[in-house]
Amino acid sequence: MTAEEILVIGAGVVGASVAYHLTELGHDRVTVLDMRERAVLPGSTGLAPGFIGQLSATAELTVLAKDSVARYRALSDDGPVDAFWQVGCLEVATTRARLEQAHRDVEHGRGLGVEARVIDAAEAVALAPALVDAERALGALHIPSDGAADPAALTHALIAAGERRGARFRFDTPVLALEVEGRRIVGVRAGKNGTLLRADRVVLATGIWGPVLAAEAGVRLPMVDVQHPYLFTAERPELDDTPIDTPIVRYPDQAVYTRRHGRRYGLGSYAHAPLPLTPSPTLASAEVTYRESDFGTAIAEATALVPAFQEASPDARLNGVFTLTPDEIPLVGPAAEVTGLWIAEACWVTHAGGVGKQIANMLLGTGDLLVDPERLAPGRFAAWSDEKIRETALGHYQGIYDVH
Ligand SMILES: Cc1cc2nc3c(=O)[nH]c(=O)nc-3n(C[C@H](O)[C@H](O)[C@H](O)COP(=O)(O)OP(=O)(O)OC[C@H]3O[C@@H](n4cnc5c(N)ncnc54)[C@H](O)[C@@H]3O)c2cc1C
Repeated sequence: MTAEEILVIGAGVVGASVAYHLTELGHDRVTVLDMRERAVLPGSTGLAPGFIGQLSATAELTVLAKDSVARYRALSDDGPVDAFWQVGCLEVATTRARLEQAHRDVEHGRGLGVEARVIDAAEAVALAPALVDAERALGALHIPSDGAADPAALTHALIAAGERRGARFRFDTPVLALEVEGRRIVGVRAGKNGTLLRADRVVLATGIWGPVLAAEAGVRLPMVDVQHPYLFTAERPELDDTPIDTPIVRYPDQAVYTRRHGRRYGLGSYAHAPLPLTPSPTLASAEVTYRESDFGTAIAEATALVPAFQEASPDARLNGVFTLTPDEIPLVGPAAEVTGLWIAEACWVTHAGGVGKQIANMLLGTGDLLVDPERLAPGRFAAWSDEKIRETALGHYQGIYDVH
């Protein structure tokens, strides 16, 4: 390993995007280490249903999401990739207040360069009949440039493109510790025997496991892991293998979202008390035990809302863990506490393309940044107590789809 070698820990969508963008900028001295096998994604990426919505209350998130959408679309320029479909998004209004809000959202979107329009209930039902209830919908905000990803396929595509340009991915390689000398990173201890791999720049992209390695190196990551339910219908006879051909659908007032996944439909809900989880080094997967009672009435209410779920009880359910921050913005940039340690954490699939580009440009010092780095700085909550970070982050859980 040479001085210019950049080590990335974690080959979920975020680590893959970091390596992809480093190689795109011509830097092929990058090695990505992951404890997982090449084909399996045990982290959040492997569980995410892949809703990609660009409109946000926070301009920076919209910038990162727009850049990600452009990148995910462009991936197929390198060869056929079935990983992202620009099918649009419907935000269904079931109250007058939400419908009025939708008109304001059109203006908000225009300011951020995201085209949207308000459509009536009949058009919303016509666009996604299995997902929009004609009895409940009063209209919808339609955002045609949003879409859906297959996060696992997307990650494999980013890895393949990065490898073609010289990045190395080492799977079955757990990182046991960050090696720090005098507040400077000198490498990592990796593999079953804890071999020292030297590097003076290391990017932490370990998703929900972020705090595990960081804390031992004296770095506090202001993030909270939370559990989240997602359900699937059984395969439907009227559906074929087309991955998706209708918009993704959100119900902002009910904190519910739903989409087609090939022969099935899927649905998630945020309408329950947040369920934090503290990751341990032995946690092998971001999927934890699903107990419907943990989610209160959220599942019953969500399935009653969406036509595809009204007819039959769900066929498959999962409880997946992902990360929140106090301002919903990912943690991206150098760690203040340890020189040479970089953070790419708490980032959604929605923003991973833009985050990879941002940190790659920061690492290489090109000056070509999407977002003011201060807005993403991992140390921006340094003055906050752990309790305030936790409470504020958890407070965003139910309103995650509110764009105001
Ligand atoms: C149920 C659910 C629904 C979601 N819905 C959406 C959605 O619709 N849209 C959206 O944009 N996002 C969604 N998300 C969030 C999104 O999935 C995550 O934010 C994103 O996938 C995080 O990617 P990551 O690469 O940071 O983490 P991960 O995918 O978790 O990858 C981290 C990697 O680090 C590796 N690793 C960890 N520790 C070590 C170690 N010590 N040594 C070596 N390797 C290590 C792991 O093996 C893993 O491969 C959802 C998440 C869940 C769980």
